[in-house]
Amino acid sequence: MAHLDHYLSKPWDPPEDRLFPVIDDLLDDWQAEYLPEAKGLRLVGHQWSPRSHEIKDFLAGNLIPYRWLDVERNPDTQTLLDAAGVGVNELPALFFEDGSALRNPEPRQVAERLGRSLSAALEMYDLVIVGAGPAGLGAAVYGASEGLRTLLLDRHSPGGQAGSSSRIENYLGFPAGVSGSDLTRRAVTQAQRLGAELLVPVEVTGVSVDAGYKHLTLSDGREIVTRTMLAATGMAYREHPAAGVPEHTGAGVYYGAATTEAPEFSGRRVLVVGGGNSAGQAAMYLARYAEQVQIVVRRESLESTMSKYLIDQIEKTPNIRLRTRTEIARVEGTGRVECVALALDNGVSEAEAIDAVFVFIGTKPRSDWLPAEVLRDSKGFVLTGRDLQADPAYARIWKETREPLSLETSAPGIFAAGDIRAGAMNRVASAVGEGAMVVRFVHEYLSLT
Ligand SMILES: Cc1cc2nc3c(=O)[nH]c(=O)nc-3n(C[C@H](O)[C@H](O)[C@H](O)COP(=O)(O)OP(=O)(O)OC[C@H]3O[C@@H](n4cnc5c(N)ncnc54)[C@H](O)[C@@H]3O)c2cc1C
Repeated sequence: MAHLDHYLSKPWDPPEDRLFPVIDDLLDDWQAEYLPEAKGLRLVGHQWSPRSHEIKDFLAGNLIPYRWLDVERNPDTQTLLDAAGVGVNELPALFFEDGSALRNPEPRQVAERLGRSLSAALEMYDLVIVGAGPAGLGAAVYGASEGLRTLLLDRHSPGGQAGSSSRIENYLGFPAGVSGSDLTRRAVTQAQRLGAELLVPVEVTGVSVDAGYKHLTLSDGREIVTRTMLAATGMAYREHPAAGVPEHTGAGVYYGAATTEAPEFSGRRVLVVGGGNSAGQAAMYLARYAEQVQIVVRRESLESTMSKYLIDQIEKTPNIRLRTRTEIARVEGTGRVECVALALDNGVSEAEAIDAVFVFIGTKPRSDWLPAEVLRDSKGFVLTGRDLQADPAYARIWKETREPLSLETSAPGIFAAGDIRAGAMNRVASAVGEGAMVVRFVHEYLSLT
């Protein structure tokens, strides 16, 4: 069968509009997928080491091609370790093409070694966007294209939750679906081409406001100053409360990392916890590799929490088993997950031999880094625009003679978009849309100051 990526119809005049951009795009796609054999980065480590998982997740999230070599499964890696004088107690180690290695590195060291700048180029920005998920990337594209000095920061990697999705089927313009990493790569290229600056991994830990200027504090103590700021830090999964989870996190228990870890679980048995679309997508992706995938949910069915197209796909996949009215009570194992105790709602408990648990439940907003004057609802979601006026603290905090702009928080010039916002739709398209809208309100705020 022919593999068709695109077709062009003649005439394609002028080629600058109708031919070259398509060819550029196709070449970009090819380059992103192409992995030259035995070249580039090699990460050597233990599959059950949380640091190995952290570095894999960082490289994959930042679309940096690498080869993973599990020391226990690849005896040849010993030669590589001996040649560089790296001891097994120094793993994971990241090997570069020139033969040099970073021993047990942190993501930040990896970024620096790869020549990525972690320092802001300017002393002052018009717009600093915290969080490079769909909302942040949307704002970066519009901010930079409209001439704002725009800086985008992310603590982990661009793409956010959407970046970890194996296939987004409902995003406009991609009839066959698009993987989160492909969508992210396109958005990052577009934002940077338009002039936005991107720094990753850079975490913002606090914000203070002085004479209208926003001073962002970074986790390493440095500061960035901006006239307006967008909080687009989205949501994160809550820790699963079952016994044994904290000590196995990164060693068989993973939060939303199905695409990074799936190939390591070829022929093994895995559990997916959660009944939302993210859990459904992860189960479908894992089923390509694992011998068996069990989806564990407390409810009676997936109907009220998952899209119909995913439920249909799951039903047709023979190596996925859905376990309703069930919870994880305990995770057990020595240095890695080996067994999971399940509690059924009829009081029965069952123990299952399991190699990994992928958790997709209980999201919470990442808003704790924002200052107290940014009002939030009882769950921590940020209030914006008209919704602020219903909050009892509004009159005490908002001292402007105007009403807050749409998507503006209770701190003038600090905006919020995407999943962090109270009332958000929790969709890629709505996050991108809000990110784009914010730029219009940023212009309005700047014209008032
Ligand atoms: C697996 C999965 C599949 C999904 N599939 C779909 C789908 O098919 N269709 C759909 O419409 N939606 C889907 N969703 C939902 C969608 O991805 C989210 O609604 C969307 O990503 C929200 O975007 P956001 O920009 O608001 O936040 P996020 O995507 O949560 O991005 C927030 C970013 O902020 C960064 N950050 C957090 N704190 C800080 C800090 N202090 N400093 C710096 N950076 C920080 C994070 O690292 C992250 O990159 C899926 C979600 C998941 C998890």
